[in-house]
Amino acid sequence: MIDCHYVEPTTVDEACRLLAEHGDGGMVVAGGQVLSLLRYHGLIEPSCLVSLQHVAGLDGITAEEEGVKIGAMVTLHRLESVGQEHPTLWALSEAVKNIADRQIRNHGTLSGNICAAHQASDINTVLMALNASVKLVNPNGERIVNLHDFVTDAFTTTAEPGELLTEVIVPHFATPRSAAAYHRFALRAGDYPVVSVGTFVSLDEAGLCLEGRIVLGNCLGAPTHAAEAEQRLQGCNVVQDDQSLAEAANLAAANVTPWDEPMASGEYKKDLVSVLTREALTEAVASAVAVK
Ligand SMILES: Cc1cc2nc3c(=O)[nH]c(=O)nc-3n(C[C@H](O)[C@H](O)[C@H](O)COP(=O)(O)OP(=O)(O)OC[C@H]3O[C@@H](n4cnc5c(N)ncnc54)[C@H](O)[C@@H]3O)c2cc1C
Repeated sequence: MIDCHYVEPTTVDEACRLLAEHGDGGMVVAGGQVLSLLRYHGLIEPSCLVSLQHVAGLDGITAEEEGVKIGAMVTLHRLESVGQEHPTLWALSEAVKNIADRQIRNHGTLSGNICAAHQASDINTVLMALNASVKLVNPNGERIVNLHDFVTDAFTTTAEPGELLTEVIVPHFATPRSAAAYHRFALRAGDYPVVSVGTFVSLDEAGLCLEGRIVLGNCLGAPTHAAEAEQRLQGCNVVQDDQSLAEAANLAAANVTPWDEPMASGEYKKDLVSVLTREALTEAVASAVAVK
């Protein structure tokens, strides 16, 4: 067994330096839930665990010019109520409420969930529908990457060795009549979803859809945009003609080939995509119309 050090830096710079020093052997610990399981089962053998628990400045939630910025160490529990203060994050709050149980939400963090890159992550699916980006810091500087380009496959991100995710940026809605919604189906309360769907719509005053986003969770390795279905919504009057929502939902299902799992076949998941997409679009449109 490899000797493993546990260090508790207090600044982002120090954390990055420690990670760089240990190369591939250095690993970040946020809430530690996924990491401890991987280590327990011998799937990883880090030489140094860099805890973020005492790093200053990673637990804020602030509305700034670019959007709402959420620190890496914000817990899932805290996100449950964030939609009340920041309306653009309403769907994120709704998604988080269904994750696992209270103990897991108390310890699990935003960055831990994102970086673990589980294929059924509720957070990655809803954040992609919100067009979120992540800020990554390394000893040489920082970069902002759209979440879609960061989580690229199951358990796979484009983080470089030694790179730290410090915050998530959720852009403000460009037009007032905009809203997002998230629907999921799980076999039991607290389970990962069999399928989940995050949606976003922005409407003009007449109800024409200016932009629609549909992101499918646990169908492929990473949450995926249903591109043809999104195009179907563009320019449709989705308030007067809800047939366009049904057609978009059917297109989303027709154009995805979800993987089979013991808990659900790919065919069953296609049906779920259709139903959940229609439900989530209907809710997003109703919420957008209700914006004063
Ligand atoms: C029983 C159970 C049920 C669950 N159900 C669900 C569910 O239904 N839906 C769902 O979405 N999630 C679910 N989860 C996942 C849960 O949300 C995660 O365990 C949790 O979010 C991981 O967060 P953490 O802070 O403990 O991560 P950690 O274990 O600390 O880290 C996870 C990974 O991310 C890396 N990492 C963490 N932070 C950073 C950072 N800032 N920069 C770079 N790398 C970083 C770590 O090195 C590690 O590889 C479940 C977990 C359990 C145990």
